[in-house]
Parts: sequence; structure tokens; C-alpha cells
Amino acid sequence: MVGWHNDPQPKEKEKDIMDHRLETRQKVVEAGMKMLSTNLTVGTWGNISCRVPGEDNIAITPTGMSYDTLVPEDIVVLDLRGKTISGYRKASIEVPLHLAIYHARQDVQAIVHTHSAYTTAMAVARREIPGAVEDLVQIVGGNVRVNEYALPGTEQLGINTVKAMAGRNAVLLANHGMLGVGRNLEEAFRVCQVVEKSAQVTLLAQLMGGVVELSQEDIDGMRNFYLQGYGQDKDKDKDKDKDKDKDEDNDKDKDKDKDVS
Ligand SMILES: [Zn+2]
Repeated sequence: MVGWHNDPQPKEKEKDIMDHRLETRQKVVEAGMKMLSTNLTVGTWGNISCRVPGEDNIAITPTGMSYDTLVPEDIVVLDLRGKTISGYRKASIEVPLHLAIYHARQDVQAIVHTHSAYTTAMAVARREIPGAVEDLVQIVGGNVRVNEYALPGTEQLGINTVKAMAGRNAVLLANHGMLGVGRNLEEAFRVCQVVEKSAQVTLLAQLMGGVVELSQEDIDGMRNFYLQGYGQDKDKDKDKDKDKDKDEDNDKDKDKDKDVS
């Protein structure tokens, strides 16, 4: 029982805040290492951020530092106006881009921005990635559009990116790279991997005569399935039903393919 004297709650709350921040910073460090090891970027390019649970703050990578040297203390904690709350490093130059997304999208908990090769090829050609691959439409919600060009580090880049990413979890940054978002850092990272693979697939399919896009109905169905199926370990009975739905969806897809060909 808590005594009537010296209420310990503020201290406990402070400890919780510090724990959450440290945990979030650690996750950002790990995502940076993974981004480097999976060739989604080279050198110090790209950046990663995540909302700190229970706070109106984000944790973001510092500017100009190698991902393989980062420790949690290098990750900067900012409020949603960009003011440093914790950390002694200079934050990524793309802070305005990250903040624009966090302000516009309450569903976004984490952002990963990469310069991976195939997505950058599409971004340089300013060609969108069509909604033609099942894993892409499930995790992104449809095609991946290209934003209107703006210089890195500018507020305009944030405005253009939010606009092009409406209703999607990824966007191509014209002549620059790509950006993926998610309900957590793991999902944002997976978005980037799936978009990179889809860019590669799109280029190969174009060499073989073109891409056959999925119908909007099938895209919506697969997206809903993905959203409902996430975290499926919690209720196995429900999962069985969803698997059944998925099989039915797959049957529907087969019928659709017949129509397309
Ligand atoms: Zn960049």
C-alpha cells in the first residue's frame, strides 16, 4: 500500500518514461543495423523514427552517423514540434518529413526511410509501383505512388509526401528513395522490404510484357484480411475462420485471374 507521505508515483512514472524511451531508442538502433545488413541503404543515408509509447514524443536517428556504431544514447527524442527532449546528438535532417507524417497520420507509430536500389530506380523514373503483388497490397494498402519532388530536409517534402501517401503505408520519394510506415517499427521495416521486392518484381514483369494489376475489390479484401489477421496468436479459433476466409479469397482470385487473362 502506498503511504500518505511522499507519494512515490511521480518517481515511478518518471522511471516508466525513461524505460519506454530507452526501449524505443534501442529498437531504433536495432532497425538501423538491420537496414544496413539487408542492403536497404548504404552509408549513413536513410533515417528511422518511432513514437515513444505514452508520450507525444518521437525517437529518431541522428544525422550523419553510421548505423553500425549507434548506441541508444545517440538516438534523439523530440517532441512533435521538433524540440529536443532528450539526447545530445543532432537529429536527422529529415525531421520535418517525419513530423509531417506523425501529425497527419495518427495510425502511424513508426517510420523507416530507405534508399534501396530498386525502389530508388522507380523513384528516379517517377513511376509508381502498381498494386499487382499480393503481399504489397496487403501491407501497403494498394499501389505505391511517387510524391511531387521537393528538396531533402524541407517542410515541402513533408507536405508532398503526406499527400502522396494518403491511404497507403508507403510512398516513393521522387529522385530520392522510399518511405514506409507502420503500427510499430517491425511493420514499418517489413513495408520497406516488401516495397523493395515489389519494385524489383515490377521491373522484371515489365521486361516480360507488363504487369497485370489486381482489382480494387481484391486489393481491399486482402488489405482487410491483413489488418484483421495481424497478431493472430491471441485467438486461435478466430484464426481458423480467417484462414478459411483466406482460402475463399484465394479461390476468388483464381476466378479473377481467368477474367484478366
Ligand atoms: Zn533520404
